[in-house]
Amino acid sequence: MPYISGKQMIAHAVANKYAVGAFSAHNLESVQAILDAANETQSPVMIQIGQRVINTHGIEVVKAVFDAAILRYDIPVCIHLDHCHNYDQIAQAIRCGFDSVMFDGSQLSIEDNIHITRQTVQLGKALNIGVEGEIGKIGGTEDDLSVDEKDALITTVEEAKHFVDQTGVDYLAVSCGTAHGVYTQEPKLALERLAEITQVTATPLVLHGGSGVPDQQVRHAIEAGIAKVNVDTELRQAFVAGIKEYFEHHPTDNTLAFIMDAGKVAMKQVVVEKINLFGSAHQAASLLQEYQA
Ligand SMILES: [Zn+2]
Repeated sequence: MPYISGKQMIAHAVANKYAVGAFSAHNLESVQAILDAANETQSPVMIQIGQRVINTHGIEVVKAVFDAAILRYDIPVCIHLDHCHNYDQIAQAIRCGFDSVMFDGSQLSIEDNIHITRQTVQLGKALNIGVEGEIGKIGGTEDDLSVDEKDALITTVEEAKHFVDQTGVDYLAVSCGTAHGVYTQEPKLALERLAEITQVTATPLVLHGGSGVPDQQVRHAIEAGIAKVNVDTELRQAFVAGIKEYFEHHPTDNTLAFIMDAGKVAMKQVVVEKINLFGSAHQAASLLQEYQA
C-alpha cells in the first residue's frame, strides 16, 4: 500500500503522457471498487474524499476506513481532499495523512483565493503533499446559459498564469467547458485554451466534471495538458445501477453484503474503463520504481 504524494504521482503522469484518474469514494465498497480496478489494471490511482462524505461521516473516520481497505493492495495510491473551502480542513486532512489536497477558492475574490491557496502550497511544500488550486468557476450543469455566457466562464491564459505565478500550485483546475453532475447536452471542451494554458504556465491541469465527457475529447484534453481527471457522477450512477439490477433478480433479499457487492462490481467496471481511457494502466510499476529510488 505505497502512498504517493500527489505531486510525484502527477509528475509521473506528465512525464509518461497519461492522466491519473481521481475517483471519488463514498464508502468501503466504493473504495474497494477503485482499488480492485487499479489492481487489475496495475494503475496508479487517486482516491478522492469529497465534502459530502466528510460531512456525513467525519474526515478521520473515512480516512481510517480507507486506510484499512488499502492495506490489502500493493499499487501506488494517493488520497486526495476534493473541493475544500477552508484552511482548517486542509490542516485537518494533512494531520490525517492525506497525500494531496485541493483548496477551492473559486467562490472567493481572486485576492483571497490566491492568499489561501498560497498558504496551502507553503504547507504542502514543507510536507511533500500535492496541492491543487482552482481558478475560474466549474459550475453545476449550466444548460440554461447561452454560448457566449459559457465562453465567458472559460479560464483565460492570463488568469491562469497570474494565479500560478502568485500561488505556485502543483496542479491547477481550470474552467474549460465541463460541469459537475449530469450533462443534458454534450459538453465541448476548450482544447486549444487548455493547450495554451499548459504551455504558458508549465503546470499540470485538472479536469473536473469528467463524467459524461466523450472519450475522444478526454483523450485530446490529456494531450493538451490534463494530468488528473476527476470522476464521481458516473461512478455513483454505476454503483446504484448495480444495486438496482441486483434487486431485479432478488427483489426480497436484504443481505446487505450481497446488495452492496453488486454496486461495487458495477462501479469497478467503470473505473477500469476510465483507467484504460486515461492511459494509466500498467504505469504502477514504473511509478513505484521511481518512488523507491
Ligand atoms: Zn470538482
